Amino acid sequence: MDLLFGPVPSRRLGKSLGVNNIPNKICSYGCVYCQLGRTSNFQVERRKYYSPEEIFSEARSKIEKIDRNDIDYITFVPDGEPTLDINLGREAKLLKSLNIPLAIITNSSLVDDDGVREDLMNFDLVSLKVDAVSEENWKKINNPDPRLNLDSIKRGIVELSSKYKGRLITETMMINGINYDKEISQIAEFLKIIHPSESYISIPIRPTPEIWALPPDEGILNKAYQAFSEVVNKVEFLTSSEVGEFYSTGDFEKDVLSITSVHPIRDDFMDRFLKRYGKDYDTIEMMIEEKKIVKVLFNDHYFFLRNFRERVSLLH
Ligand code: SF4
Repeated sequence: MDLLFGPVPSRRLGKSLGVNNIPNKICSYGCVYCQLGRTSNFQVERRKYYSPEEIFSEARSKIEKIDRNDIDYITFVPDGEPTLDINLGREAKLLKSLNIPLAIITNSSLVDDDGVREDLMNFDLVSLKVDAVSEENWKKINNPDPRLNLDSIKRGIVELSSKYKGRLITETMMINGINYDKEISQIAEFLKIIHPSESYISIPIRPTPEIWALPPDEGILNKAYQAFSEVVNKVEFLTSSEVGEFYSTGDFEKDVLSITSVHPIRDDFMDRFLKRYGKDYDTIEMMIEEKKIVKVLFNDHYFFLRNFRERVSLLH
């Protein structure tokens, strides 16, 4: 069993050396979009999985073989929920001695536990899952273990955010078939309270255990982007295939695709962008016709977004 993997590229984390501190699919959630498949082993009690010393020595020997410039973070991102590991704090303390920033990507479900919050304080970056703040959508999207309590989790997140001094980011996975009418503004209100430094909106980009868990309508994604942007300085779409693409390449179409994967482009910005490249609106019409991008109306402006759903429908 490899406890370390990578480094792998990540847009949130740069080059990330992964720590797999939980065996496959031991989780407190059974998210309908989980790329690892259905949760085989629901757990909410923390316990020991691997030896912290073993994780540390594997990390150290791996790092000795890699140029340090090729690692931006050592990241706990296992095939289950990393905070279920009772030794998390000890592992983090050992790994800190390697002088590489530490990150963790958690589903947030155990953040109401004092010990979990204490362990998370050892990390330079904590990514929290905030897919829903209403009971109904939380249950529908995350399929939580019945022993979990959403109000308690939210209190835990607020408590963590009030004390945590590192880089706190949130990730919100949005899927089709969910009623986001009130949810988007409620999530935005919650983000305002915990004020993360960045907020990512993701969509399923790989086959999901539940066939209906497809990306939502682009209008919904845009609405979430605009609402979250009111309260968080940096909001981005997150699709794992876009690493390193968000730069000007001199190729207009490629640039539009990479930018719209991350941000919607508002119509007035698009006009300026077209002018800069000496292009006219026909190019955009063509991209819409070819289903590469879509155009949605929001607050008196048109926004252009990448056609996420077209890309994902090919996977099912
Ligand atoms: S929390 Fe993560 S590992 Fe657990 S079911 Fe959801 S996506 Fe999968």
